[in-house]
Amino acid sequence: MIDRAKTILGDVFGYDEFRSLQKEIIRNVLKKRDTLVIMPTGGGKSLCYQIPALIFKGLTVVVSPLISLMKDQVEQLTELGVPAVFLNSSLSNEEYSRNVERVKKNGVKLLYLAPEALLTPGMLSMLSSLQVDCLAIDEAHCISEWGHDFRPEYRQLVGVRSRFPSATCIALTATATPRVQEDIKSNLKFDASNEFIASFNRENLFIQIASKNSPTSQTIEFLKNYPDQSGIIYCFSRRQVDDLYETLKSKGYSVRPYHAGLSDTERARNQELFIRDDVQIIVATIAFGMGINKPNVRFVIHFDLPKNIETYYQEIGRAGRDGLRAHCLLLFSYADIQKIKYFINQKDDHEQRVANIHLNSLLQFVETDGCRRIPLLTYFGEDYSTEKCDMCDNCLAGEKTFVDITVPAQKFLSCVKRTDEIFGANHIIDVLRGSQSKKVLKFGHANLSTYGIGKEYSRKQWFHLARQFIQKGLMIQDTKYGSLKLTGKAYDVLKGKEAVLGILEEEHLHDRKGKGKKYEYEHDHVLFEKLRKKRKELADKAGLPPYVIFPDKTLIEMAAFFPRSEESLLRIHGVGAVKYSKYGTIFLNIINEYCRDHHIE
Ligand code: ADP
Ligand code: ZN
Repeated sequence: MIDRAKTILGDVFGYDEFRSLQKEIIRNVLKKRDTLVIMPTGGGKSLCYQIPALIFKGLTVVVSPLISLMKDQVEQLTELGVPAVFLNSSLSNEEYSRNVERVKKNGVKLLYLAPEALLTPGMLSMLSSLQVDCLAIDEAHCISEWGHDFRPEYRQLVGVRSRFPSATCIALTATATPRVQEDIKSNLKFDASNEFIASFNRENLFIQIASKNSPTSQTIEFLKNYPDQSGIIYCFSRRQVDDLYETLKSKGYSVRPYHAGLSDTERARNQELFIRDDVQIIVATIAFGMGINKPNVRFVIHFDLPKNIETYYQEIGRAGRDGLRAHCLLLFSYADIQKIKYFINQKDDHEQRVANIHLNSLLQFVETDGCRRIPLLTYFGEDYSTEKCDMCDNCLAGEKTFVDITVPAQKFLSCVKRTDEIFGANHIIDVLRGSQSKKVLKFGHANLSTYGIGKEYSRKQWFHLARQFIQKGLMIQDTKYGSLKLTGKAYDVLKGKEAVLGILEEEHLHDRKGKGKKYEYEHDHVLFEKLRKKRKELADKAGLPPYVIFPDKTLIEMAAFFPRSEESLLRIHGVGAVKYSKYGTIFLNIINEYCRDHHIE
């Protein structure tokens, strides 16, 4: 049966190989064993039930929490020639009845439903007259109160299972926490061990963290590297979203905002424009992204610090679903940490503890001098054994050399001492750099012997030094107020008994565009643009997002290998039989004409 699955993978989906675990999962489902799948966003979860659905005689019911996700999947399957429908409130009465008829006549392989729709007596009785072979529960973390999107209706799905005893159940999620996994298994009454956990490492994401000095111009600098490419910029507040949106718009960028202050229609419209490649950039609060499956998001910028690693990982996970390189930039400042701390301090004791733990893991990730993937994957309980990923800023920075930083340490520590250990790093740095700020003058700190003795380093460099002094146990920081205090070790340094080795950060933000590993073929960009234009035209005519016609990767391969016959086109990623019959000649004509005009053999 697994041979059959492999054939379908090629003929229907146009892919050569299964990705990690897909084969094992499909085999398990085909044996009608309950299966739990934990895979990161973009890992390829959908195929794990779509291919079995095409092999099973009966129907596969897919439970999905959002209309936009159902629509996206059904559009993609329909384009591939797979009979799939959804039933939800977005359909007109006619469309709804037509879909019901198709289901009743065994005319579809996959039926997508929201949990509340599946739970209605009408739906259940209709389905019990059919053979249901598989119940796929997408975004299965919605079952758990410990997850981030708890949906009470998901808890009643277990009742549905008993009505379809011959249906096997596959639950899928990208949430990695063990607690949520346990919840899913116990809720759905899964027996023992059929659990498949893929690595959470997303190799094709380039991860970079830069000190946030002037975030707007840093963002604009960054965007110059990605003209005409899709990307998302996440901000902390609605106001920030609106500001940045206005600035980018005034500079001529193709951009829309997205946040809870906009009307539902406006939000839906902006999202749709983005998905259809009519708008390139979305500036958003965290509210954006849950319902989108757009595979060609080429960059994600965190304009502000995310709340915790889990949120961060989910947000960058929206980039590069197509497996091509995507760039994730986080702009980091210690002022943002203070902002988050301020919010944490409003919470009750228990919540504060949890929030502080989260914040510390985030700090470890931000401050590490080693590979970024180590703290990230450690957070998800994964043992990341490669020392260098070659796809993060630290791995590409080359060896960081440790230098003697005893003198700056003495300057900093003595300034902490002389200001009575009641101030945070911000103020200490002001004093060291000889600032004329009101606060410095008010406390008479302009008269101290340490005033203005640290002008040789920038604020940014001082902040980086200060973090190292804390990490090395020379100072401790009050978690509530951020004030710094010396430790016993600090006095040894001050007395010259102990030297301090550390890293002096360079001043400039390196351009990281295109650095790291290659995830795409060298290709003809002119031809690529021609193909892309044709794709957009076809997509608009069909009222579909362009990636549903062909993903970028398909067009890139066309522009790299110049396929000129049916046989060679079918070998291109994402070209299966049905897609070929729909679009094959249209794209072949463009390629042939281009090759003729440019004398390409
Ligand atoms: P997830 O649901 O885990 O976020 P998807 O199922 O949407 O991921 O898959 C992400 C992308 O990877 C899709 O564009 C999908 O078509 C593609 N994909 C999945 N499996 C394969 C494969 N074996 N080979 C090539 N592409 C694949
Ligand atoms: Zn790395």
